[in-house]
Amino acid sequence: MNIINPATEEVITSVKEDNLASIESKYDVLRKGQEQWNLVPLKERIAVLQRFAELLKENLEQNAAILTSEVGKPLQQSRNEINGARSRIKWLTENAEKYLADDIMNIDKGLTEKIVYEPLGIICNISAWNYPYLVGVNVFVPALLAGNAVMYKPSEFSTLTGLEIEKLLKKAGVPDNVFQVAIGAADVGEILLHLPFNGYFFTGSYKTGKYIHEKVAHKMVPCQLELGGKDPLYIADDVADIKNVAAGTADGAFYNSGQSCCAVERIYVNEKVYDAYVDEFVKEVKGFKLGIPSEEGVYIGPLTRRPQLEFVENQVKEAVAKGAKLAAGGKRAAGKGYFFEPTVLLNVTHDMSVMREESFGPVIGIMKVKDDAEAIKLMQDTEYGLTAGVYSASKERAEKILGKINAGTGYWNCCDRVSAALPWSGRKHSGLGSTLSHIGLRAFTQPKAYHLKG
Ligand code: NAD
Repeated sequence: MNIINPATEEVITSVKEDNLASIESKYDVLRKGQEQWNLVPLKERIAVLQRFAELLKENLEQNAAILTSEVGKPLQQSRNEINGARSRIKWLTENAEKYLADDIMNIDKGLTEKIVYEPLGIICNISAWNYPYLVGVNVFVPALLAGNAVMYKPSEFSTLTGLEIEKLLKKAGVPDNVFQVAIGAADVGEILLHLPFNGYFFTGSYKTGKYIHEKVAHKMVPCQLELGGKDPLYIADDVADIKNVAAGTADGAFYNSGQSCCAVERIYVNEKVYDAYVDEFVKEVKGFKLGIPSEEGVYIGPLTRRPQLEFVENQVKEAVAKGAKLAAGGKRAAGKGYFFEPTVLLNVTHDMSVMREESFGPVIGIMKVKDDAEAIKLMQDTEYGLTAGVYSASKERAEKILGKINAGTGYWNCCDRVSAALPWSGRKHSGLGSTLSHIGLRAFTQPKAYHLKG
């Protein structure tokens, strides 16, 4: 399998893909390893994962460069991602003992009732390329902490990073028979669906997530899905400091070239502040530096996958054909690489795909609304339910609006952020189940209830 640099379209290297026989033998290795790993005291498992976080720090520059070369993420954003993964590991390891310890529920005249959080067994982790460290850590770190073995399938677009992750986990002390990597694309993922894993944890598109969910349903094991989004923002009429709000929200829309599950994908602006906000927003976007992502200072790199260029281009063409106005960008950048200019569309409507289908690229539609009620109605008009945000001077007003939105995360005066202490969960087509927080730690366990009398 060739690994392509999306900024230059050159082949970086090629790697050997797995096949049915190699996957089956990796699975057998894990089966034996999991039982031993579960006997390792939790404190030791925690120490191993903390060592992994230290190794991420020690290898930061080298691994950021690898990530940038294969997914096209600007170098500083690659560094940010690895550092973000370290802080997630910090929270997960510092809280593992608290949330994985037995819960004693009731002690009464010789009766003890307790909950023991047993590991699920062997986890299948099929992952995405847009934040391979972050979305990987969400799954394999709590899974390993809880005593599971893991088959990790990085996306075919972030294979080299997946192999680096494996190398550092093993260097940190995760035994070879506790963590195995499946290399390849959809056909290799498909093989994993046929093996008897004890849980499937998938990050990727709604289309693949739905397919996997249906395919493994008969196994009666947990299947968690972290899928896409069409995340809305509402800028209310009482926002202070429009310039800052425009800068923060433009970053929320265009960071990682818009290839974030929780990227701002559509913006509704109260008519009283619409002109001022749009002016500042467009100014900000026109200031973004597009270029080779390994060069310092570049903010917009190429898209990771070539087909996404055409998808984004078609969304823009369709919107313009239906009456949208281009305020910035609108086309592919000249030359080699999968570059698309950061694009702002005004006069958009919900008849356009750009306001309803996940763009997953550097494109945003901005729409004028007359009041909060209209904003809520439009924000809710989506198949997705990952995050939603409100910018307003009033926390009460924002919480009232967010309370009416069917999404797993609500933001007030911020956007495009994830916290290790809070559950990360999508609703509707954005997914099923939660990672991160105490809920995400326990997602890799099965509770056993003990009634102990005597
Ligand atoms: P994708 O669905 O194309 O691929 C995801 C993974 O599934 C890859 O490893 C791929 O090889 C594998 N796969 C594909 N077909 C398969 C099959 N038939 N059987 C088994 N495995 C198969 O998604 P992607 O392009 O890698 O990721 C982008 C999507 O992920 C976006 O929609 C984005 O919003 C979403 N995402 C969501 C979150 C979240 O936390 N909610 C985080 C990151 C990305």
